[in-house]
Amino acid sequence: MSTFDQGLIAQIKARLRIEDVIGRHVELRPSGTRLVAPCPFHQETKPSFSVNPEGGFYYCFGCQASGDIIEFYRAINGLEFGEAVEALAREAGLEVRKRPEYRAPGEISRSECLDMHALAAVFYKEMLGRGPGKTAREYIEARGLASGIVDRFCLGWAPAAWNELRDHLRGRGFSEILAEKAGLVSKSAKGSYYDRFRERLIFPIMNLSAQTVAFGGRSLGDGDGPKYLNSSETPIYTKGEHLYGLYQARRAMSHSKSVLLTEGYVDVLSLHQFGFENSCGVLGTALTPEQVHRLSGLVGQVDLVFDGDNAGRKAALRSAEMILAQGLKCRVLCLPDGEDVDSVLQKNGRESLLELSSQAADGLDYCLRQLSANHSPKDVLNWAVGFMSRLGKLDWKSFYLPKLAAGLGLSETELRRTLEEKGPGTATSVPARLEQCKPSQLDRNLLAFAVRFPEYHGQLHELGLGEALATERGKIFWKKIFGVSPHEVLNRMDQGEKQFYVQCQMRTDVTVDDGRSEWDEVQDFLRQTCQRRELESLNFGLRKARQSGDFQEELRLLALIQAKTQC
Ligand SMILES: [Zn+2]
Repeated sequence: MSTFDQGLIAQIKARLRIEDVIGRHVELRPSGTRLVAPCPFHQETKPSFSVNPEGGFYYCFGCQASGDIIEFYRAINGLEFGEAVEALAREAGLEVRKRPEYRAPGEISRSECLDMHALAAVFYKEMLGRGPGKTAREYIEARGLASGIVDRFCLGWAPAAWNELRDHLRGRGFSEILAEKAGLVSKSAKGSYYDRFRERLIFPIMNLSAQTVAFGGRSLGDGDGPKYLNSSETPIYTKGEHLYGLYQARRAMSHSKSVLLTEGYVDVLSLHQFGFENSCGVLGTALTPEQVHRLSGLVGQVDLVFDGDNAGRKAALRSAEMILAQGLKCRVLCLPDGEDVDSVLQKNGRESLLELSSQAADGLDYCLRQLSANHSPKDVLNWAVGFMSRLGKLDWKSFYLPKLAAGLGLSETELRRTLEEKGPGTATSVPARLEQCKPSQLDRNLLAFAVRFPEYHGQLHELGLGEALATERGKIFWKKIFGVSPHEVLNRMDQGEKQFYVQCQMRTDVTVDDGRSEWDEVQDFLRQTCQRRELESLNFGLRKARQSGDFQEELRLLALIQAKTQC
């Protein structure tokens, strides 16, 4: 986010109208000063989705989706923030100034790397259609993959010869040294260069901008080498950061707010073919925190569909734990022994997976069940301690404590004690109730007023709103809105804050007198709070004066306290 200056975002908002961008996806109808439509982010027929053109934001009363033009564009297209800014800037005819690419001597630049991958993807795709691609075409047919899916995922064939891609790239101006740095050719011990992928069905791995950044290849020949081979790391590809099929799944994921996460390339293709278009794959390696982070930008729920064998169950356990620890909802679809999602779909069709989905296990229950079946109670408790310590936020600890206790057959108090004994810091800081973490209702009322009537900000500040707020979160929120232009305010907020801000803005029960009666109430409250604070401070001084025997000071403070309490 910091790579773009706020000026660019303001220019985008000045040039593009939020209602025009949203109007591409839903039919907006006027309703008072707002525009309404059925929500594009959740299934509904009634218009709960409301756009405020003047304020430049939207809000859904059904699913609480909310934000400004950039957030809408990002969410509906399944993009990352920077990609949404760039795309909208282009639409608005604005120049996005990027830092010049750094390239060390003898190194390869990102754009060269992307260009070579684009050429290679087209090359592999063409090879699939030609004579030698017959092996791959037969394999595709045997696996029951439809031609539409093969096209959509741009599958290809890497021929058996040792130098076809190498020569193809050389013919287009890319030396074998550059091709090696891009991970597309390898160098032998004798110093000759040869194609990295040979006799393999090729699965291009794309980023969210539809650029090919790496390849996965499944061996279909007799040659040795692993069954699956992936690209090595390059300037455009870091292992464990990408997900297979994310580009193709992004819209469906954004709409459903959930993803079906599976293991293999063909599993992803099958899921899409059977209509589960919100599916992507972990790319061979175990799921990484970076991948979960990437998913969390698009969805709130991850459904795991891993193989029905020991390895699959272990992977599901590790993955579920990681997903839960990052605050996402997780469910595990338990496949029958020895089956994978592809075999289930090909044998029994879409309905069978829908049924498995309806019986999916809650992520935490799944972890506890798997652990209890294979480990001692001591190990299970140790796992619970580790799990709690990995939870990123206090709210989540409070959320999981009762669930974890129930799953372990303990009372909350017993679990709390175990956590304190085994892992300092895992439970001691867990508040007893979740509500204590949220801004109190008082803070919410005060801040709701501040959001709806920015014209009172100066007076609120003078009356000490910042000090009167009871919670840390409330104080931070006030700092983010005080004196900030309404057009910039959303850029500074996290998702929860945005939601609260927009909810307040959208409140329809605004009083007829422009908030004057509410203002009287707020003023009274702040004055009283301020007075109470001053009294507390005087009383504190009085106690200290008495302790130290400072009689003069005691008299002075008593007089002040008397004056305060009389008026
Ligand atoms: Zn909605």
